[in-house]
This record gives sequence, C-alpha cells and structure tokens, in this order.
Amino acid sequence: MGDRNKRVSVTMAEQVAAMLGHDRHCWQTGDGLTLEEILSRCGESAAAQSSTNRKRRRFLFSDGSVLTCSAESWDLGFAGCFCQQTAGHDEAPAADGHVCERLRQASCPAEARAPGA
Ligand SMILES: [Zn+2]
Repeated sequence: MGDRNKRVSVTMAEQVAAMLGHDRHCWQTGDGLTLEEILSRCGESAAAQSSTNRKRRRFLFSDGSVLTCSAESWDLGFAGCFCQQTAGHDEAPAADGHVCERLRQASCPAEARAPGA
C-alpha cells in the first residue's frame, strides 16, 4: 500500500496533525485555524462519527486515515474503534468512560490495525 507513491506518503490525518504541530493538545494552527475549520476544509472526505458514549468523535478521511478526538486531546485513531493511537486500545474505561469497542467485542487482536475501509 502506497509503496509506489514516490511523493510523501502522508495520510490526510497526518497532514492535519502536522498543521497542529503534532501537539495533541493544540486545537489551533499558528494561523488561527481551529481543528474544526481544518476539518471542514476537507469536509467532503472527513466523515464525523461519535462513539457510543458520545465522549469521543472521530473523522474518517477518504484515504482511510482517522483522527480521533476526546475531550482533552486529539490523535491519530483507528478505523475500527474510537481509541487514540498514542494511548492505544483502552481495555479499562478511560477517564472519559471510553472503552475500546473492538476489544469489548473481542473479535480482533488488540494490535491489529483495522483495514482502512
Ligand atoms: Zn480500540
């Protein structure tokens, strides 16, 4: 996947992360663009979804990359659940009550990244 792409193989979620300086607690670019505004610019391709407890939101980009937001931070995420990549899959309820939906279903190994689509 993407091996033939000689240009930068950066996912859309990573591009958004780069615009925010890869600071998971930064919600605004140096130009004053908020995360919401960045995402609305890719609006047609970033589909927003809410987790079952509505404490987390994630944005699915057309290239299969995911950005997952909790109350306090954003991060690259997973297509199959609402976990954040830095924190990994939450087996025990996180501070916001989030539990990995995939682990709870126990249908996928924790390390497996869900396929993009
Ligand atoms: Zn998970």
